[in-house]
Amino acid sequence: MTHAGIGYDVHQLVEGRKLILGGVEIPHSKGLDGHSDADVLMHAICDALLGALGESDIGHFFPNTDPRWRGAPSKVFLHEAAKQIEFRGGRIINIDSSLIAQEPKIAPHIQRMKENIAGALNINIQRVGIKATTNERMGFIGREEGIAAMAVASVDLPE
Ligand code: MG
Repeated sequence: MTHAGIGYDVHQLVEGRKLILGGVEIPHSKGLDGHSDADVLMHAICDALLGALGESDIGHFFPNTDPRWRGAPSKVFLHEAAKQIEFRGGRIINIDSSLIAQEPKIAPHIQRMKENIAGALNINIQRVGIKATTNERMGFIGREEGIAAMAVASVDLPE
């Protein structure tokens, strides 16, 4: 049976942090703030996968009060979500996602992001969709105060 999940995440852009999106370090004047590497795209995808299982969100599995996850690469979270799916006898059908960022340009990095995400989930790269848009200079994203990501996941489960 096909189960769908949705995920959303947002992190604040601050000085003095690396910008990591989809596991790719992107040269930029600011980076995303957070307990882990603050990879907003991987976090949204993780929540979509957990949502397809009817599970709680990423913060439940990886609390930001736990020192183990300080600075952690977010592929660890994706790997754990994939393990949860495998444990249930499930299989990821596909993921689609959108990054919403005013700056920097995302398009040149999308292929590597797909490789990283497919690798962390152990699925074919053709099952991973990543798109990017600006926020047309409106709101907090348009003012470059933060970056957001949305994701959906389809997971085939035994019931
Ligand atoms: Mg997050």
